[in-house]
Amino acid sequence: IIEIQHLKKSFGNHEVLRDVNFSVSKGEVVCLIGSSGSGKSTLLRCINLLESPSGGEIIYKGQNILNENHDVKQYRTHLGMVFQQFNLFNNHNVLKNCVVGQQKVLKRSKEEAERNALKYLEIVGMDKYINAKPSQLSGGQKQRVAIARALAMDPDVMLFDEPTSALDPEMVGEVLKVMRMLADQGNTMIIVTHEMEFAKEVSDRIVFMDKGVIVEEGSPDQVLVNPKHERTKEFLKRTL
Ligand code: ATP
Ligand code: MG
Repeated sequence: IIEIQHLKKSFGNHEVLRDVNFSVSKGEVVCLIGSSGSGKSTLLRCINLLESPSGGEIIYKGQNILNENHDVKQYRTHLGMVFQQFNLFNNHNVLKNCVVGQQKVLKRSKEEAERNALKYLEIVGMDKYINAKPSQLSGGQKQRVAIARALAMDPDVMLFDEPTSALDPEMVGEVLKVMRMLADQGNTMIIVTHEMEFAKEVSDRIVFMDKGVIVEEGSPDQVLVNPKHERTKEFLKRTL
């Protein structure tokens, strides 16, 4: 559904992504792993064009969206993004958080948007909290609302950037549970995570990045249990 070819990204003369080739198919769950600074977030941010790539191609449904005449806004509506820091609108309640994007970007009516929002808030177990403000919620609850908000846009692909690393340990489980369920339901997901057990369970494919390149990719067994490359082995040794 998305195919990335020869993607490059530099900040000044610091080359952060060097010739990255990566793809995700419909229904596939891909976990991106790698040490801090390896370029995982930058890759996600390039995929949804929060950063503009310095080179390469991003092919979505057969079209290179980096072509000048391509409708970037339209493309981005097909991607849902969940961040480490939730990024909820703190002045809106839970329901409104999940409704405004649908109204503004997808031009849905208030009724339709609310119906859709409730559907996803129920899925993540937050439908009892529709009137709460984000400040009244725990980190795990906020993240589940953020996931519902992204899902309510009915994206083709969900991107997660370390969705549990800002959470207290006791709240990690509830968020991973929701993500596991989404994976089982056939959602297309790209997940940056340090949760190796989770990655092993849910991934169809694991991609290991180091210093701006993909060093190794394959099934969880291939990459996590029988890694081929020295750099992968080193990384796994450090994270155990
Ligand atoms: P982490 O696991 O710590 O989140 P990461 O793999 O997500 O790491 P990135 O955030 O993609 O790594 O960063 C890769 C490199 O790019 C780092 O060296 C970082 O300092 C640099 N970098 C990222 N964003 C910018 C920016 N906006 N301006 C300059 N340098 C940046
Ligand atoms: Mg990161």
